[in-house]
Amino acid sequence: MKKTWIALLLLPALLLAACGGAAGQKPVEIEKMDLIPDTKIEGSSLYVKQVADLPEDFILGMDVSSVIAEEASGVRYYNFAGEEQDLFRTLAENGVTHIRVRVWNDPFDADGHGFGGGNNDIDTALLIGQRATRCGMKLIVDFHYSDFWADPGKQMVPRAWADMEIEDKTEAVYQYTRESLQKLKDAGVDVGMVQVGNETNGALCGEKIWFNIQYLLQAGSRAIREVYPEALVAVHFANPENAESYASYASKLDYYNVDYDVFASSYYPYWHGTLENLSAVLTNIHETYGKKVMVMETSYAYTAEDTDFSGNTIGEGSSVTKDYPYTVQGQANCLRNVIDTVAHVPGGIGVCYWEGAWITVGSNSWEENHALWEQYGSGWASSYAAVYDPDDAGKYYGGSAVDNQAFFDPSGHPLESLRVFNLVRWGNEVEPQADAIEDSRLTVDLAGVIELPETVNAVMTDDSKQAVPVTWNISEEELQAMYEGGPAVYTVLGEAGGLEARCTVNMVEFNFLRNPGFEDGVLDPWVLEDLAGADELEVKKNPLDAKSGDWEMHFWSAAQDSVEFTLEQTPEELPAGTYKYAVSIMGGDCGETEIYAYVKLDGQIVGTAPLGISGYNNWDTGWIRGIQLQEGQTLTVGIYVKAQGEYNGAWGKIDDAMLNSDR
Ligand code: CA
Repeated sequence: MKKTWIALLLLPALLLAACGGAAGQKPVEIEKMDLIPDTKIEGSSLYVKQVADLPEDFILGMDVSSVIAEEASGVRYYNFAGEEQDLFRTLAENGVTHIRVRVWNDPFDADGHGFGGGNNDIDTALLIGQRATRCGMKLIVDFHYSDFWADPGKQMVPRAWADMEIEDKTEAVYQYTRESLQKLKDAGVDVGMVQVGNETNGALCGEKIWFNIQYLLQAGSRAIREVYPEALVAVHFANPENAESYASYASKLDYYNVDYDVFASSYYPYWHGTLENLSAVLTNIHETYGKKVMVMETSYAYTAEDTDFSGNTIGEGSSVTKDYPYTVQGQANCLRNVIDTVAHVPGGIGVCYWEGAWITVGSNSWEENHALWEQYGSGWASSYAAVYDPDDAGKYYGGSAVDNQAFFDPSGHPLESLRVFNLVRWGNEVEPQADAIEDSRLTVDLAGVIELPETVNAVMTDDSKQAVPVTWNISEEELQAMYEGGPAVYTVLGEAGGLEARCTVNMVEFNFLRNPGFEDGVLDPWVLEDLAGADELEVKKNPLDAKSGDWEMHFWSAAQDSVEFTLEQTPEELPAGTYKYAVSIMGGDCGETEIYAYVKLDGQIVGTAPLGISGYNNWDTGWIRGIQLQEGQTLTVGIYVKAQGEYNGAWGKIDDAMLNSDR
């Protein structure tokens, strides 16, 4: 199946080879359309602050590696006029200058089933390269030197090279790179840059030591120089938030004298640290080694929603720190700021957005989409990938994890944020509008009062913030239920400036006691008075015996009537008011007991709650409510335990004391 397909794709090249001979054959001439505008696109509602002094040749790239598989799956792309149009043309018309494409050696199983992620071998890259070239954009070729995804988590060797020693593998990298690039060259593809490896954080093509990795990098670089002498040679790493490892990669490359032009980094703002840090690490590399630097992958969400029934990297429910709202404008502002940062790093040559067109195939159900992912490789991985990567792709195969980070909506129509590629050069500082409402958070003591904020922050389209009045949609009954529902987290919705507002209300039980569950691993500030000389009376670490956490207060004593003690705590600077107190106990073999929680005011017991012992893990909790503390009085809480003991002696555990305001 795969062989037929490739033969068809190669037909023009083969015909040409037959006429002109393989060596020094005349490459196909692709007629280039002049589509990248050299003027500002007018009339956009998108707010874009101009990136000052952006060099004319600054790379504004986009990776669309999955596009061939997307189109095969039935996806259609449109232009801003609502007409179906070649995706590459739409990208070029909106200021994209470079197209990036990943290349895997052989992402197919023995029966020709694709592993997914676009099934991108060099023949797929060739199709993408030709279309990019036709639209006047240069290609950035991203060799993974693997049969499937290579990233900081895995750098698996291609199956065909699995048994090679480093010498043979080096030769294989050289030959493969050379032949692959020659295919692109013969097909007339305008290649601007070639990456030797993808996110090669200390591993490449199954090699894990730099002494070997450097041979492979050298081999790839040599092949690139031979076939495309005018193209830039790039190396690519991830995790710039780890400045030390970046400095170490750059110094290794220098030590082994690897021939490259561009030190490229991934920068996903929700994982990879601040822009200030990114700027600092890239500046350091340029200033130390004189290399060009760039961001090779970045992306951001325009919506929290998943549209293809296959979970997303970020979005609803993900715990990433969010610097921009998940809106079309937020996506544009995020990218604009990455561009602004790299443009002002010395040696900074460009930014490439990752998979900006990987939208949902189909839309009705997981089953429908899954069938398309399997058939055309339009998901991140198909089940067929199990033969190569059984533990990850072979298990968790599915669709697009970045459909909410695309520049196209689920129906293939471009989002206004796509204009940012053009507008960063000129700016489009339209009147700022409220774009999203920042979430509010409230922590409320169960005994306190829920005071929802009267204003919330609107995130404006220019990324500034403005306080706006808010109306919360909550009834008196719902508020009452929150007071009475115990410790819990609620989301209250509201409306501010025509946008949805959210307030997360965390109802908590504040505890005025210190070390209330003995988790400090010591008794302090509890005061223990042993009244009958017990054998064991101490805080103990045993998570199985604790009511919560790891520690509890333990007692045991063999002789009859040798268990009698008090355990109490006097919190400092307790404000006057009404309080409630609770403490829990469990145990066994206690015989007759007299046990109670108590509260003292100025040393006099004013309230008690009886407690019983009834077996292992049968915790009994004593509550004392409505404790009135006046100004100047001292409040002490405690537990009195007296047990006669039977069999092998009375034993028990005390845990989780609580002193909280009472309503
Ligand atoms: Ca998805």
